[in-house]
Amino acid sequence: MSEPLIQLKGIERRYQSGEQEVTVLHPLDLVIEAGEMIAIVGASGSGKSTLMNLLGCLDRPSGGQYLFRGEDTATLDALALARLRCHHFGFIFQRYHLLPHLDAAANVEIPAIYAGTSRHDRQARARQLLGRLGLAERSHHTPGQLSGGQQQRVSIARALANGGEVILADEPTGALDSQSGKEVMAILKELHQQGHTIILVTHDMEVASHADRIITLKDGRVQEDSGRKVAGNQPVLNVPPAAGEGASYDWDRYREAGRMAVHAMLAHRMRTFLTMLGIIIGIAAVVSVVALGQGARTKVIDQINAMGTNTIEIFPGKGWGDEKMASIQTLNKGDLDALLGQPYLAGASPEIASPGQLRYRNKTSSGSVTGVSNDYFKVKGMTLVSGRLLEWQDIQQRAAVAVVDKKSIGSLLGKDDPVGKVVMVGTLPVRIIGVVSQETGFGPSSQSVNVWLPYSAVMSRLISQHHFSQLTIRVKDGIQPALAEQAVIELLTKRHGVKDFFTFSSDSIIKSVEKTTATMTMMVSAIALISLIVGGVGVMNIMLVSVVERTREIGIRMAVGARQSDILQQFLIEAVMVSLLGGICGVGLSLGIGMLFSLLVDSIKMQFSLFSILMAFGCSSLIGILFGYLPARNAARLDPVVALARE
Ligand code: ADP
Ligand code: MG
Repeated sequence: MSEPLIQLKGIERRYQSGEQEVTVLHPLDLVIEAGEMIAIVGASGSGKSTLMNLLGCLDRPSGGQYLFRGEDTATLDALALARLRCHHFGFIFQRYHLLPHLDAAANVEIPAIYAGTSRHDRQARARQLLGRLGLAERSHHTPGQLSGGQQQRVSIARALANGGEVILADEPTGALDSQSGKEVMAILKELHQQGHTIILVTHDMEVASHADRIITLKDGRVQEDSGRKVAGNQPVLNVPPAAGEGASYDWDRYREAGRMAVHAMLAHRMRTFLTMLGIIIGIAAVVSVVALGQGARTKVIDQINAMGTNTIEIFPGKGWGDEKMASIQTLNKGDLDALLGQPYLAGASPEIASPGQLRYRNKTSSGSVTGVSNDYFKVKGMTLVSGRLLEWQDIQQRAAVAVVDKKSIGSLLGKDDPVGKVVMVGTLPVRIIGVVSQETGFGPSSQSVNVWLPYSAVMSRLISQHHFSQLTIRVKDGIQPALAEQAVIELLTKRHGVKDFFTFSSDSIIKSVEKTTATMTMMVSAIALISLIVGGVGVMNIMLVSVVERTREIGIRMAVGARQSDILQQFLIEAVMVSLLGGICGVGLSLGIGMLFSLLVDSIKMQFSLFSILMAFGCSSLIGILFGYLPARNAARLDPVVALARE
């Protein structure tokens, strides 16, 4: 003789109620064979549901042993118990306990999803079961659109989804009118005839009379057991799939969890939106600031590149704002000659500024008069428009000749061709020999007329000064500006004996711009991070509420075979979806801001990088996981019986 299906040995259940312990089920022994149809009857409060929950492994006994096919259920962990419920039991509840937002077919499929049945198979099975129970026409109706009797038939179909080897029905007719009740009992009887083991609880003797065996409970003890009848039929035996499960299993439960998440989000649109708001703002802020910083950086670097990337300027003093700057007179012709001898330099020119009033005929204008060498225009990347540039002879001869800037000269000469004209610089008549145009680089464009004279002429004929106010050098193409800068610093320091000058290159400007934008981005990101954390706390809060609201749903899912990990995943996926959706909205908002920005401001464009957008999605998913974990774990750790009892 094989092991009996169910064997209870001295099983008991006590509840701690306040200080004292209440014994709801006194030690009881019971053997149930496969294929039996048993009715458990008794007055309300006699312990019928308690016994039923123990039989269905929703609850654990306080004492005694429960053997299922000879295996002690006390040795099973939560996962193994979930598998047992999933593959061997089918529950039918007095109040049907269907999931209200799913249609009949989807409700019937749930246990099969947790069992790992393929989508195709479980849909076919749901169709077949609903057809068999006369609900083929109703398979796409939600529970709210079905009568009580129809809902109970759907729940019977659900109990059969994974085979329904043992059907546990707690007051299945309790909420039905007598006609529907009769139909349900007829179905249960038919299932019994097909070999299903049926255990039903009722307080109605008329209903109980359909069973082969009646067990009467009174105050938690078996008062009467009508005894086993040998059933002639072959019992249904469900062989669960091996632990490997179907390949579709993981994907299916993600899909299922995703669908539940969408339902939950749609059910509370406003709440979901408000929850996401923190994340939307945080993500939009980070993405926008990064894009703006990127745009500003590109803009500045473009301007610097227009100025020439490989020029280095040398000034006296320790840096900008050095008070001794004016009194240091060590940058001189010797330095210039030494620099001109360096093979890595393409040119060098001093600059010596001279304030000067310009006069042409009877028109005067303030001028920016600068003494330079013949290398100056090459070093600054200016192009000749007409005439000629300064030449070496002009420098040697201290010639009173000048090159002027095309843009500004018009204000003095009007439309006349400047070349060949003589203008007065202070009291010195100077002949204009050439016109250049310069890329408007960085910095304010001056209103005064730009005039360049040989530095030798300025130093001897305009002002008496024997040192330069600045040296500008150009590094040869193919040589790293940073290395050249280093070499120049060494050379001049050696010549001067001390480093009484400082250098300024486009390289160093770019570096400082990059440093500034990086610092800015970091700071704003830190603020945005706080907003994201606040958003995450919002998600956590709403998920905790959601778990409480859906406690019964969790209980139902556990009763039909969901594992703790299924519940954990469902809520975690919901949290991730809320945050990820928030992230997507945030990125969308930021792109919108970028478009608006480009309409309003045309000097800087916001530059969005794919990387920062992907980072935003990654960040928001991470927030979902981090802040969703606690609520999801709370949900997964719920006790099925407690969850089911919650209204
Ligand atoms: P029945 O289904 O026969 O009406 P139950 O099995 O639901 O009865 O309950 C039996 C007794 O156990 C009742 O007196 C009830 O108050 C008590 N009981 C049930 N659940 C709990 C619980 N979680 N804590 C304390 N007492 C409980
Ligand atoms: Mg009950």
